[in-house]
Amino acid sequence: MKKIDNIVIAIDGPAASGKGSLAKKLAAQLGYDFLDTGSLYRRIALKCIENGVDLANKEEIITLARNFEEELGNYYDDSALRNDNVGSTASKIAQILDVRAVLVEFQRNFAKNAEKGAVLDGRDIGTIICPDADIKFFVTASTQERAKRRHKELQSRGINATTSAVLAEMQERDARDAIRLNEHLAPNHEVNIIDTSDMTPSEVLDTALKIVASFTNPDS
Ligand code: C5P
Repeated sequence: MKKIDNIVIAIDGPAASGKGSLAKKLAAQLGYDFLDTGSLYRRIALKCIENGVDLANKEEIITLARNFEEELGNYYDDSALRNDNVGSTASKIAQILDVRAVLVEFQRNFAKNAEKGAVLDGRDIGTIICPDADIKFFVTASTQERAKRRHKELQSRGINATTSAVLAEMQERDARDAIRLNEHLAPNHEVNIIDTSDMTPSEVLDTALKIVASFTNPDS
């Protein structure tokens, strides 16, 4: 029987690949709930920065993450979360397995409780969080292109950074996140790979919508 509710769409990929904007637009278009899972790591990272937590002190970070658990669903000032410093701190704390474990249940419940459907974007959605997701995407782009996009985004927010500094930060973050990305590309997963390097955002959305339609409306 065709599945018509609680459809789970997993979107994974590296930083500035376009996965976040695709996930947001896809959810809006389909009327599904949306969760940017990177923002959960960023919220914990921001708390660590605000509280002056030493990143070498894993126990303190884990305790902070546990104490912070029930606040995860609350509204947060998004612009503070978007800074590169918060992103790179997030990728450091994301290496701590107990921090990841704190976030697993929140993410799985979010997917499970969505009525019509849920779109989650992150790094390990299709592998760890929702391995049974109905549709899985891996959105990527060349490192140069991603650094270019991030640089433009920072500039539009009035943040000055050289392209080479942005590229270096991105390469460093990619290297730290690489293990999970490699996991995701394991051949036994049915993943729809979209390379957005030479695509416009609307082409990316159209490509994804066609794939979703072939799942939700296989006869049309
Ligand atoms: O996607 P975003 O850049 O907001 O994520 C910030 C960091 O959080 C990533 O670099 C990654 O290390 C971590 N992350 C993760 N698993 C996720 C989402 C984000 O490890 N599902």
